[in-house]
Amino acid sequence: MSTQDFDEEQQRYLKGVTAGLHIARGVPGMTGLTTGKRLRPDDFHSQARIRAQAMGGELTSQEEAKADLNPNDMWNEMVALANLGEYPKGDDVFLMKGRGMFYVAPNQDSYMCRLRMPGGIFSSHQFRAVADLAETYGGGYTHVTTRANLQIREIGPKDPVNVLMGLQDVGILNQGSGGDNVRNITGSPLAGIDPDELIDVTPYCRAMHHHIINHRELYGLPRKFNIAFDGGGRISALEGTNDIGFSAVMPKADGPLPRRPYFRMGLGGITGHQDFARDTGVMLKPEECVAVAHAVLHVFLASGDRTSRDKARLKYVLDRWGFDKFMREVQKKLPFTLRRYPLSRCETRAPVDKAGHVGIHDQIDDKQYVGVVLPVGRLTIPQMHGLADLADRHADSKMRTTVWQNLVLGNVKKSDMKALVAGIEKLGLHVNASPARTGMVACTGSFGCKFANAETKGNALELVDHLEDTLELDEPLNIHMTGCPNSCAQHYVGDIGLLGARVADPDADDPEEADQVDGFHVYIGGGYEDEQGIARELATAIPAVHLNAYLENLLGLYLDERHAGERFVAY
Ligand code: SF4
Repeated sequence: MSTQDFDEEQQRYLKGVTAGLHIARGVPGMTGLTTGKRLRPDDFHSQARIRAQAMGGELTSQEEAKADLNPNDMWNEMVALANLGEYPKGDDVFLMKGRGMFYVAPNQDSYMCRLRMPGGIFSSHQFRAVADLAETYGGGYTHVTTRANLQIREIGPKDPVNVLMGLQDVGILNQGSGGDNVRNITGSPLAGIDPDELIDVTPYCRAMHHHIINHRELYGLPRKFNIAFDGGGRISALEGTNDIGFSAVMPKADGPLPRRPYFRMGLGGITGHQDFARDTGVMLKPEECVAVAHAVLHVFLASGDRTSRDKARLKYVLDRWGFDKFMREVQKKLPFTLRRYPLSRCETRAPVDKAGHVGIHDQIDDKQYVGVVLPVGRLTIPQMHGLADLADRHADSKMRTTVWQNLVLGNVKKSDMKALVAGIEKLGLHVNASPARTGMVACTGSFGCKFANAETKGNALELVDHLEDTLELDEPLNIHMTGCPNSCAQHYVGDIGLLGARVADPDADDPEEADQVDGFHVYIGGGYEDEQGIARELATAIPAVHLNAYLENLLGLYLDERHAGERFVAY
């Protein structure tokens, strides 16, 4: 029997099912790993406890909880809670995050489930399954996140296990998507179709993803950990904001290394703490990346601060030790010598296209891709099913989510593009948008996050509407609206960053007695890749009701006063 034996509808379905399958001999994307002593999370906790006691400190309560039970072993507890129809309490709230289940009360008295998908590329089959789960067990919508991922929200007390079983049925393994774990592996969303990319990062994201899923000791990191692979192409993976950022580079022609693409490794990115990943001087063959990341993670496991949540990220080990000492420890864990190579002997990265994730663009071959604008990442169930059907009919059955909270459909024949765009618009979505809409990113905010100081997604969309009504912006502009200093929407890398704050009600009769209402601190001049920079504070405590007018004035002033060729970057 061949696929020709199926009718057109059946073939489309099969294409969606097989889109996520990668069939290869050997293990693509991995060399340099060794067998050896098996480590358990408890090994690291007991060592950390001894270190903490020697220094007169104590492990955090989260560390004690992880030492008692590996978060990966929460299944029985989750089943028991679901059967009782109860939400978790105490340490179980934290431990369930390790299985991607966040109890998000009080903002929503329900669970949010965070998925993981290497490189953010779902098959249409998986996309439909997530839509069905969100409809059956969730609130009837999903969010595309700033880590190129999907979240299902408003899951009731009886259903977390039903959701996880449904995800596993279609090959979505979300262990470690929350808590003190390696989070979703992000990669260039145009991997494999980008005319400018140096490396198709797909096999390396996938190899890293499965490596994490299969290492129990990695479920007990001192704190969360982000890894990204940037292929050097048109759309950045924002790898500089990650604990490990792998950046594709080409050695210059006159150097000793052969002209083939490598990855540079940056460490310690955490823009919420105003730091980008810094170059380690190491140049890796792509297939070496997983082994080196494994070594970095093991040094971090043993050295991260488990006595303070605020100082537990990798950046603080690097600050304490310096890069040289840290990399010496990494080297000790590897069976090969790390290749040192000056960054100055590598070609400069090709500039990114800040609007390359939206609209119709040519690919590496004679086909095209199209970036669909999602309203700050929100998708309804009919839209998810409609996009999956369109991806099967006109594209390659892959749903490429991006860190810009939108979605790319690729491998579209030029002759199919018109029908595809018409189908997207029929779903109430668009492929072209103003610069403000294209570059708007917003975290969950007070709609569903207890840490939020302000509502974000609604304010972000109102701001976009206002800027479209009042200004003629004519260049890409990234506006990152984040609800609290945790900075999930990375306000420090936006051209404009907006950080939620509680501010005095501007309409109060007596300012001394004013209620606290939503507001924002304003930052400008952030950027990434060739425009990398941490945004600087421009204004504080702008009430949300005044934000639209404030930014209209700011951007209007820029449009009026700019010189020819000048751009809105202030790095
Ligand atoms: Fe919640 Fe803060 Fe993250 Fe926004 S930035 S989703 S408010 S933790």
